[in-house]
Amino acid sequence: MGTDILAENRRLSKENLKRLQSHGIRSVDVMGSIGSGKTALIERLAVQLREKGIRAAAIAGDVTGQDDYDRFRSVGLLSVNVNTGKECHLDAHLIEHALDDIELDAIDFLFIENVGNLVCPADFPLGTDKRVVVISVTEGDDMVRKHPMIFTGADIAVLNKIDLLPHLDVDVERLKQDYKKIRSDASLHLISVRTGEGLPELLSLLGV
Ligand code: MG
Repeated sequence: MGTDILAENRRLSKENLKRLQSHGIRSVDVMGSIGSGKTALIERLAVQLREKGIRAAAIAGDVTGQDDYDRFRSVGLLSVNVNTGKECHLDAHLIEHALDDIELDAIDFLFIENVGNLVCPADFPLGTDKRVVVISVTEGDDMVRKHPMIFTGADIAVLNKIDLLPHLDVDVERLKQDYKKIRSDASLHLISVRTGEGLPELLSLLGV
């Protein structure tokens, strides 16, 4: 991977952030594996934002298809679909174009769902206020140590599906300690999108 590509992405990401901030929009890049619950988390948070009178939109990033886009639309969330083709991550250039399709003065908060994996998105900031990485208890307790880069670059790390813990042999302490080794200044944030546990705290971490 060329350093030029990464430098150009960083430059564009700063422009995206400036553009979003100039419209008073808070934004979050939601990263995580396929099946970690990114789409469900965004749906749930968007509904909670709406109840607070905060207008949200979502950019659905996937290699192909519009499944997540359709899900966002079905909960009444303004949404833009971005397919990356063969790329395993969104980039700032794709987001620049997606922003052209959103009436920025009509929203207060933007979710961007990145392509599902814990590797590629790490190197490509999109220009959001926050980057969140979502893992879930069903992925096992070695997810943090196996993917340190994405946790280094994320502002917030969440462990989802904690309602399933009674049924699994997952060592949450191990995940917490692995994360502490990477980010001594932060804690792994435990949530359940299904039960709603931890979501109000997550919203406040997102500045809401
Ligand atoms: Mg999804």
